[in-house]
Amino acid sequence: MNSQPTQQFASDNYAGVCPEALQAMAEANDGSAPAYGEDAWTARAADAFRTLFQTGCEVFFAFNGTAANSLALAALCQSYHSVICSDSAHVETDECGAPEFFSNGSKLLVARGEGGKLTPQAIRAIATARRDIHFPKPRVVTVTQPTETGQLYSLQELRNIAATCRELGLSLHMDGSRFANACAALGCEPADMTWRAGVDVLCFGGTKNGMAVGEAILFFRREQAEDFGYRCKQAGQLASKMRYLSAPWVRMLETGAWLRNAEHANACARHLAEGSRGLPGVELMFPVQANAVFLKLPPAVAEALRARGWRFYTFIGGGARFMFAWDARLQQVNALLADLRDAALAAA
Ligand SMILES: *Cc1c(COP(=O)(O)O)cnc(C)c1O
Repeated sequence: MNSQPTQQFASDNYAGVCPEALQAMAEANDGSAPAYGEDAWTARAADAFRTLFQTGCEVFFAFNGTAANSLALAALCQSYHSVICSDSAHVETDECGAPEFFSNGSKLLVARGEGGKLTPQAIRAIATARRDIHFPKPRVVTVTQPTETGQLYSLQELRNIAATCRELGLSLHMDGSRFANACAALGCEPADMTWRAGVDVLCFGGTKNGMAVGEAILFFRREQAEDFGYRCKQAGQLASKMRYLSAPWVRMLETGAWLRNAEHANACARHLAEGSRGLPGVELMFPVQANAVFLKLPPAVAEALRARGWRFYTFIGGGARFMFAWDARLQQVNALLADLRDAALAAA
């Protein structure tokens, strides 16, 4: 038996700040700089995104993913519009109604999807079910890449969804709070997973990727970014000392830490998944394609893990969720595996 775990995998938000992001904050902390995003770091961060995505997108920064998603969706909608999402989408289940609030009432229309994934068929069914004036007009589709349960849309799936959106006059938004994990897993260019596939707006998560705080919002159709700065300000999302939000992005993107961090996190998830295979009563609930592992555990096993000090969520997806970040130590993943093995064999 191990002593109390020193590192937990309940959430990728448990991780600290990676060295590149922390060092960038220290570097940015050099004297004074213009406020509210007028500083050199913020310009450089926006340029680094344009370089990485190989396009002249509009770039904004927000403190967290809830704000990024909500404000982006609000920018794509009028209050009488609706947003099509999966029933397990973060915007539906974990944002306390913020998308509806910031859009002044745009309704979320949820589709039941496998592993939280939308399909062209599901989008079409919802978008065409009601066309009358009594129902909020479908205007946007939002996909989460990877999904809340760690599944990926392939590039072809994204292209098919985008084609359906175009045909039906819908904009396509991507919640990329773990966008880096998706890029690492698919081994593709960020551009291929977004604007080249037909995504109009991306919320690119920095927090779960190793930063202290901050998400970027990228508008690939620049006209959709009109007045977006005002939205951010009104919502309390315009950082006055913006350089501390933007400088970490510069280092994350320029050094490749964004991708390395994600590759490491994904590898740790695969390691746990492989190590738990074949244990009695233990089942993988979803394919492990990014940095999440969801295990179906007999209640006694879950209890035994908790008794040994392990923390994990069970309110997402229904099983025990383990999430990995840049800082996951392999030794600690192995300690979790050892306790899991002990508990599973004892309960069998
Ligand atoms: C974590 C997360 C977010 C952002 O959440 P905040 O706590 O607001 O930063 C958005 N979408 C998904 C799928 C997430 O997992």
